[in-house]
Amino acid sequence: MFESSYPFAFFDYFRVPYTVRPELAMGDGARVPVPVHRIRAAAGPGAASRSLLWQRAEDGPSASAGRQLGRYRLGDFTFFGHVAVGAAVPGTFSRFGHGWHPAAQILDSAGHARAAVWQDGDGNVFLPFDPAEVMQQFWSEGYQRVGRSPMALRGRAALVRSYYLMRPAVPRRLQLRLRRAFTRVQDRASFPGWPAEDSLHSLYAWLFGLLAGLAGQPVPFLDLWPEGRSWALVLTHDVETGDGYRNLDLLREPERQLGYRSSWNFVPLRYKVSADVVRGLQEEGCEIGVHGLRHDGHDLGSRRLAAKRLPAMREYADRWRAVGFRSPSTQRRWELMPTLGFDYDSSYSDTDPYEPQPGGCCSYLPYFNAGMVELPITLPQDHTLFAILQNPDADVWIRKARFLRERRGMALALTHPDYAADPRVAQGYRSLLETFHGDRTVWHALPREVATWWRQRACSVVRGAAGNWRIEGPAAAGGRIRFAHGSRSRGPARADGGGAIPGGQNRKSYT
Ligand SMILES: [Zn+2]
Repeated sequence: MFESSYPFAFFDYFRVPYTVRPELAMGDGARVPVPVHRIRAAAGPGAASRSLLWQRAEDGPSASAGRQLGRYRLGDFTFFGHVAVGAAVPGTFSRFGHGWHPAAQILDSAGHARAAVWQDGDGNVFLPFDPAEVMQQFWSEGYQRVGRSPMALRGRAALVRSYYLMRPAVPRRLQLRLRRAFTRVQDRASFPGWPAEDSLHSLYAWLFGLLAGLAGQPVPFLDLWPEGRSWALVLTHDVETGDGYRNLDLLREPERQLGYRSSWNFVPLRYKVSADVVRGLQEEGCEIGVHGLRHDGHDLGSRRLAAKRLPAMREYADRWRAVGFRSPSTQRRWELMPTLGFDYDSSYSDTDPYEPQPGGCCSYLPYFNAGMVELPITLPQDHTLFAILQNPDADVWIRKARFLRERRGMALALTHPDYAADPRVAQGYRSLLETFHGDRTVWHALPREVATWWRQRACSVVRGAAGNWRIEGPAAAGGRIRFAHGSRSRGPARADGGGAIPGGQNRKSYT
């Protein structure tokens, strides 16, 4: 259905069938020094084939292509990356088509039109940015560096560092007051939105719409979840202290009563974890994960410290048969995480402006960081909701979980038995579990099962032709094929719009 001159990260991620044909690339090295890549959509009956053109962010010096790294807005989503700005772009492309005109405006962060998605008279589209780079900016949180001075970044790093260093010495009540003060500062940050940030998924929907429009037919892809389930619910717990360790049942008991399984992340050297407790949880079908080594702010403090502490973390992982990692206080570094040697990490949030290391990968689906699966935390943490923001009940949890269900996403909860003595946490958790207890659409899975599925999906392909698609590879047994539809409107196609949740932003669905 599609041929591309270069591997297209978006197709790879959604497992859209296509073949790579390098000879489709355009550019002669003189007038077009940066190669122009092309995805050609097979022509429908009685129609000429149409192409999507784009340039890779990594090819050639940005300046030569007029590309500027920045924060931009297209339609209803924000994105970060290099964009070919200005009206000079069609000049470069005039030789590849005729009648180029702007089909959609791209605005800068001040709201001024800076670039456009271009379309020619035959319906070919030029994308002035590289979707692979944009996806990577979100996943890695690399966008946090865009438009910020190195000094401001250093200042923030120092603030985070001093928070960790000072924390043990500061009384708990003052800690909370500091966090709330910090929270007011965080509230002013306009990106990512909280409790939901839809930009990355709106970009996916926009791309699906564009490609379905070019192809003139729905685009097949490998469904996100197995067995025809439409969303995933994953329960995880971090056990912070000996108090939490003694109070596991405050959260485990309601799970038992309702038939849920969950994952428990223990800190190896902060309190004693008995082999009986580990075995007991495993026998109930639960999973054990590793939550740093000492939880003192230094486990991943630097590459050197991480390397020093890693052998001990690995030893406990082997002892507990743990394949998952959650970093203490979700302290994380993109380059470091895959070197820890776990099957999956779950230290990124889709959006969390309230953590000591604030941010958000904006993804409510799993994704890869090198060879490791990342499972983002997508429901606000109990501590944020009840201790910092003083919510009276689980309303935000339930609304966000419904929001994720509508978007076929992954609701991944992180709660702590350490905070469950607060009746709002315990009662809130129970009502979250009760709300989705009878839901037949949900895949209730352990994080290790989600990571395994995501790997199987990533090495499976959709093959065949219209009307006769099939899955080949390890996801063939449980996987399904779905279709993304284009829009009926003119120009680069859009998926249908939908509602918004308070505090979040508008959404698009890609199915
Ligand atoms: Zn923790």
